[in-house]
Amino acid sequence: MAKPYPQVYLGDRLVPAEAAHVSVASSAVLYGLSVYTVFPVFVAGSARTVFRLEDHFRRMVESCKIIGMDRFDQEWDYDRFRAATVELVAANELTEDVFVRATVHVVESIPGTRVRGCDIQVSMFIYPATPIVPQHGMRLKSSPWRRIPDNAIPSRAKVNGAYVNSVLAKQDAIDSGYDDCVFLDGNGHVCELSAANIFLVRGGTLITPDVSCDILDGINRRTILTLAAEDGIPVRERTVDLTELYIADEVFVTGTSAGCAPVTEVDGRTVADGKPGPLGQALRKRHADALRTDTVHGWVTQL
Ligand code: PMP
Repeated sequence: MAKPYPQVYLGDRLVPAEAAHVSVASSAVLYGLSVYTVFPVFVAGSARTVFRLEDHFRRMVESCKIIGMDRFDQEWDYDRFRAATVELVAANELTEDVFVRATVHVVESIPGTRVRGCDIQVSMFIYPATPIVPQHGMRLKSSPWRRIPDNAIPSRAKVNGAYVNSVLAKQDAIDSGYDDCVFLDGNGHVCELSAANIFLVRGGTLITPDVSCDILDGINRRTILTLAAEDGIPVRERTVDLTELYIADEVFVTGTSAGCAPVTEVDGRTVADGKPGPLGQALRKRHADALRTDTVHGWVTQL
């Protein structure tokens, strides 16, 4: 397992990683009552840049609002979040591109199963930016575990406890010799992977499940939709059947930790000719460039 970089942000200051603790009696530990995000920091010489930081912060605010963690919005704004990121990155000697995992923990001790008004604490730590799925052709398995629906634990809120659902599905896929899962909803429609969004291409049209299909509203998903529209590629956000993946011309996935990466097999069926497709590969390149050097959309922030 990778180790976090030595300096961690916790509460309102930097602490050594070994001292960055949350209590065993906190709701974060007892119920998985935390929300989080992961964003990339790129290293180029002495420059440090981050991709869509404000969007990550806004999604954390929205996740807290959905769950009822009201203290985050009261205590934190984007300027404070950005300043904490700057402090964290400056305190660690980066020699490679990294991910930052930022979490809002409910740290109230033994409050019972409630959330409003409970104390929160923010943590941020850095770790190497190793992709969580193969980058040149991954194999997916549809999961026997269904995606948690919006009226149970909403996927659009990035709640730590909900990731037990992802762990079950990803472990099942790995145990079966695949790289990751395809989550389906209760009606058998495609949602997403364990920690990435999914796209397919049919007849030149880019298709992805819409945001009311029990998915995380991924920031890289939004990025691909924007880039594709700008390139004149027809885009549709709609319900997707599992069997559409079997007969797609291309399938690829997106996510901070997944990148924009091709799928070459779903449930033992080869996607098209088994090679990464041209549209997905073109968008992969556009995405990789945008992450580091976008100047058009205001997505890149210097730290
Ligand atoms: N879906 C899930 C369930 C995820 O955990 C992630 C990773 N955050 C994504 C999609 C991709 O989201 P993003 O592009 O914001 O990283």
